[in-house]
Amino acid sequence: MAKNPPHPGMLLIISGPSGVGKTTITHEVEKALNGVFSVSMTTRPRAAGDREGVDYHFVDQSEFDRARNADELLEWAEVYPGCSYGTPRRPVEEALREGKLMILEIDVAGAEQVKRKMHDIFAVFVLPPSEEVLLERLRKRKREEEAVIQRRFSKALSEIVRAMECGVYNEFIVNDDLGKAVEKVVQLVTRELHLRAARR
Ligand code: ADP
Ligand code: 5GP
Repeated sequence: MAKNPPHPGMLLIISGPSGVGKTTITHEVEKALNGVFSVSMTTRPRAAGDREGVDYHFVDQSEFDRARNADELLEWAEVYPGCSYGTPRRPVEEALREGKLMILEIDVAGAEQVKRKMHDIFAVFVLPPSEEVLLERLRKRKREEEAVIQRRFSKALSEIVRAMECGVYNEFIVNDDLGKAVEKVVQLVTRELHLRAARR
């Protein structure tokens, strides 16, 4: 029989409006806490700098539909019209079985689905210091054209309201200074891991 891991795994969800800095924060937290980043499947076009199998698994709609219908996705959402994203189920289950910290960077609709399936998640929502700063960051990364940036920006407010009302998020943090935001998430997750360990 397999031995129990030294500590139980934990599923950490990090969400926030596009451009707020959650990918940057997620990878810093992953490094600091030796976590595992969940590589999502997506039908969104691959942008310059996107690494296949590292940032995302880029697939066409038929492959996405196949995975979804085969129940290979823990959750999924059409985040923008024509752009679906989903979390492959197996790596999450494996990481948790091995007692690891599994990190999902997903939207609010996806987080709601995961919360319904697994009650024991820890979820952090990242807020921008202001609307102006959010728009600035979306533009700064030079990944999308202006029309796409505007679509992403206009979704931000409703995403924030939904996050505040859905009851899924344990913590809300503001990403003003990046170093401080990373430190805050690391601190919150570490405290949660200790609380869980003490309850075992
Ligand atoms: P998201 O994953 O939320 O869409 P990114 O992590 O891609 O956002 O960050 C968007 C841009 O903002 C990137 O250019 C990133 O380097 C920058 N950024 C992230 N956090 C900060 C911060 N605290 N201050 C200034 N720029 C930031
Ligand atoms: P981007 O295209 O900027 O990488 O991501 C756009 C949005 O999709 C972000 O809000 C991000 O959190 C969300 N997202 C990324 N992967 C997943 C996923 O697997 N499932 C869901 N529901 N959302 C995701």
